Amino acid sequence: MPAGVELIAISKTHPAEMIQEAYNAGQRAFGENRPQEMNSKYELLPKDIEWHMIGHLQTNKIKYIAPFVKIVHSVDSDRLLAALNNEAVKCKRTIDYLFEVHLAQEESKSGWLAEELKRYVKEGTFRNYGNLRPRGLMTVATQTDDKKEVEREFRTLRDMLKELAPIVGDGFDTLSMGMTHDYQTAIACGSTMVRIGSMIFGERDYSK
Ligand SMILES: *Cc1c(COP(=O)(O)O)cnc(C)c1O
Repeated sequence: MPAGVELIAISKTHPAEMIQEAYNAGQRAFGENRPQEMNSKYELLPKDIEWHMIGHLQTNKIKYIAPFVKIVHSVDSDRLLAALNNEAVKCKRTIDYLFEVHLAQEESKSGWLAEELKRYVKEGTFRNYGNLRPRGLMTVATQTDDKKEVEREFRTLRDMLKELAPIVGDGFDTLSMGMTHDYQTAIACGSTMVRIGSMIFGERDYSK
């Protein structure tokens, strides 16, 4: 990875042994999208792994990850922030998070609409959550071969970070964007964290 870009190895669906192999090769940051799955892998694996939650998080499942998760990339509501803060307080921890922004053409993707998030940040409600630290923005781009569209989405996220960083304050500097099929475009557009799964671990088998 180029300087300034952190690789998050997305290990969802893959067994702990494969994570251990990547760990032995020096990788420390891993991403999962299901709280229980992350929890059972956490139990099995070295404790200096940095765990990144990248999937939609239901408030009743926060308890599975709050004691150890490093950062939640997929914050999509104020309600989730409030619940995450409660669990962080219980664990006497500070948890980092990113706001997920929905910029893609597909309905299926989650996250804040851009205007909605700008309004939310300007209102300042997020400042009530003393055990959480806002670190930046995340997006999943449209799945398309149209590189122009993907670039447009990544540039929009970068511009939003520039606009919101002075309002949020210090440390709001992370742009989590780019996956196996579009990480090069993401890096060219200023990504600081790429989330790569299949290129590292191979195709996922959801039938198991
Ligand atoms: C699965 C997933 C990834 C990794 O996708 P690959 O195409 O396997 O690199 C990245 N981000 C999110 C949010 C994911 O759910």
